[in-house]
Amino acid sequence: MANVPTELLRALPQVEEVLQHPYLAPLEQAPPHRFAADAVRSVIDRLRQRIISGERPEIDLEEIAYAAAVRALSLGKPSLRRVVNASGVVIHTNLGRSPLAPEAIAAVNDVITGYSTLEYSVQNMARGSRHNHCERLISAITGAEAAIAVNNNAAAVMMVLNEFARGREAIVSRGELIEIGGSFRIPDIMEQSNARMVEVGATNKTHLADYERAITPDTAMLLKVHPSNFLIQGFTESVGIAELRRVADSCNKAHATGIPLMIYEDQGSGAFVDLTSAVGSRAESTIAASLKAGADLVSFSGDKLLGGPQAGIIVGRKEYIDRLKKNPLARALRLDKMTLAALEATLRLYLSPDATRRIPTLRMLTESADDVRKRVETLRMKVADRLPRSFAKLEIVPEISRAGGGALPMYDIPTYALQMEFLQGTAQRCDEYLVRQCPIPIIARLSKDRLLFDGRTILSTEEVEIIADGICRYFAQMQGGSDE
Ligand SMILES: *Cc1c(COP(=O)(O)O)cnc(C)c1O
Repeated sequence: MANVPTELLRALPQVEEVLQHPYLAPLEQAPPHRFAADAVRSVIDRLRQRIISGERPEIDLEEIAYAAAVRALSLGKPSLRRVVNASGVVIHTNLGRSPLAPEAIAAVNDVITGYSTLEYSVQNMARGSRHNHCERLISAITGAEAAIAVNNNAAAVMMVLNEFARGREAIVSRGELIEIGGSFRIPDIMEQSNARMVEVGATNKTHLADYERAITPDTAMLLKVHPSNFLIQGFTESVGIAELRRVADSCNKAHATGIPLMIYEDQGSGAFVDLTSAVGSRAESTIAASLKAGADLVSFSGDKLLGGPQAGIIVGRKEYIDRLKKNPLARALRLDKMTLAALEATLRLYLSPDATRRIPTLRMLTESADDVRKRVETLRMKVADRLPRSFAKLEIVPEISRAGGGALPMYDIPTYALQMEFLQGTAQRCDEYLVRQCPIPIIARLSKDRLLFDGRTILSTEEVEIIADGICRYFAQMQGGSDE
């Protein structure tokens, strides 16, 4: 602290002084004048922090005024908006995971334009429950006795542990103590829900006997967690649901008067259809299979492999789901009408035999590389038509797409991408231009000074057009000399 250059701190301008600058003068007339003052204050504060932490930033009134004007004006621009995903990561968590099917979008529109049957039963002409809209559909698809949907799967895990393992023990394999990202860690969730975690086995191997030895009269559940975003390979062993079911059954028989030991699986991605024919042995086992193997409860996300809106769905035995519906967390974590509408419409698509083609996430995951190639070919032609050959080398290359979202972690999806090698400008600059300057940001893949546009996640010919346009505009503004 002793070395803070006070002369620099003193050189920082007053807020009022910056507000007089011509950059900010027009904003002064706008009704939210205090937004301009707030913006100036935050720009000056940031400079002050940098000085205090030992930097020596240049203090320039014009620059401060400009940064403040940009900041104040940006309030009026949408922050959450559409992007084009040419990264090839299908369930891209940063880009909103699953795009919705047209049927789901229409359902949302229908419900938000006016009033709805959110908690009203037309049959009874009386109060209904929002839990009813999706439950029968989920049961029909998965074979579950009952179901409930909440805000997301993290919330679902939390609620199950809170209801059934609060103050008691949940046994989980050390190979499944995962972090999913965004500070969702199984041990932390356990702690939050007041369940006592009992770890068994080793990172690579957990045997049935490990679970058996750990069971005490205080054990509430055997917990299985899908390892989602990683795969342990080599000398490994884990215990499946069916084996755990046998252990729980013999335990419950021996202590028929106690609270039964339950089996709960956090399945993660929400696989409703068996993708084995499309993606081979890497396909995840389905929710129906987990229930059939003997899980009492299974939870999963609505917006990963399921391909719907953000949600967390819990399926299983009716007596357990009924208890969850009464847990105060069910009220705190409930879904809103837009999500329910989108979820219900997405679920209904699963009733049709061509669900894999009608749900965008499943369609993208299962589309053949040859079909992807056709879209990339169109993109190449559109760019080649408008771009002199001396600007960039365009090539269609075989590549690998990823499922993302912790689903099918090691599955290499063969795909095709348009690869651009830059003879003018650079891949980095173009990448920045496409993200920052295009009206609809375009997310490509930067790889060794080349820019790749993976056709698998490009959703339509409109998006092909948007990308071609963005690329051409990058070169045009560069020729025009306006490239900063
Ligand atoms: C993704 C995932 C979660 C978190 O689900 P959200 O819907 O993102 O809250 C929890 N558990 C597993 C195994 C997952 O893959």
